[in-house]
Amino acid sequence: MDWETFVGHHRQRGWFANAARQERLASTFLMVGPSGIGKRTFARLVAKSLLCTRYEPTEFATCGACEACVQIEAGTHPDLIEIKREKDKSNLSMEQLVGSDESRMREGLCYEIRMRPYSGRRKIAIVDDVDTLAVEGANSLLKTLEEPPPGALIFLIGTSEQRQLRTIRSRSQIVRFAPLDQDELALLIQRHGLADNSADALRLAQQSHGSLQLAAEVRDESMSEFRALLIESLDSKPIDFPRLSKSITAHLDSVAPDGQARRDQLKWVLDIAIDLYRESMRYRLGIASVLDTAIHPTPSEGVTSRNLQRLAPETLGALIQRTQQAREQVDRNVSPAALVEAWVTEVTGISRA
Ligand SMILES: [Zn+2]
Repeated sequence: MDWETFVGHHRQRGWFANAARQERLASTFLMVGPSGIGKRTFARLVAKSLLCTRYEPTEFATCGACEACVQIEAGTHPDLIEIKREKDKSNLSMEQLVGSDESRMREGLCYEIRMRPYSGRRKIAIVDDVDTLAVEGANSLLKTLEEPPPGALIFLIGTSEQRQLRTIRSRSQIVRFAPLDQDELALLIQRHGLADNSADALRLAQQSHGSLQLAAEVRDESMSEFRALLIESLDSKPIDFPRLSKSITAHLDSVAPDGQARRDQLKWVLDIAIDLYRESMRYRLGIASVLDTAIHPTPSEGVTSRNLQRLAPETLGALIQRTQQAREQVDRNVSPAALVEAWVTEVTGISRA
């Protein structure tokens, strides 16, 4: 991956290029934004731009061919330390940060980053999924963030600012990443072979909220079945309250047993609702003359009711607002089960009014 083929996040790229040119890079960056939009790839590209031997770090470019570039691509560059939460663990482990019990502080990221850089340039660390950093882990990392080795650069990657401990947040420069726009995502969908042609890619992009990870998941049959069922429930009158909350909970249970994945899924559910309400609003206000079938499945796909488009714009506005609030609460550690229950109760009430 090089900047030429990297998709999206132009403002962030410009910002880093500028900071590198002026040699004013902070030592710790907290990169936040939804999963599956390219934050980790972005961090690796920044690392590559600073370690590529064909260019000066101030030029902020990658050649893709020097030993450093090749090693970074292969994950073997001695000055780039990458850790991420292991699949079967719920947290980043202490071993990854400060070494195992037997060799505490003689292994792990906090130790390695203090070593002299092989390249003579700098040590760079990428820590993926800091959302899952437990207090003990955060405390050991904090010592490194407080007194960073000269020139060292640490990228912490998470999904939202609210999910990070205040101590970590206050020692980081925060870089926010937005979901990819639909054209960017459609391009990536095609490149990753998730759609055969550009029309299918765009349609999938419209349902995937700017995330390549979601696009891959949405293609799954059970996901699209659930999505159609959800839309049908939200669009029916009256809303079958027990059925709706049960189907959402069952969906979360089946695809996302673990905390972070569960929150991601819940956000996806709420995003579907927000899209649905927005599209109905556009139709109701005459901005759109037909309902977008990427958002509203056509009746032949099993949806017969079309009640949302008959609601008053104020009612649709209230539904959008309440659903956005629920979405924000997902990041504030509100239990997904309680959140689903409260949200379903309220949208049912608002829709009925
Ligand atoms: Zn290079």
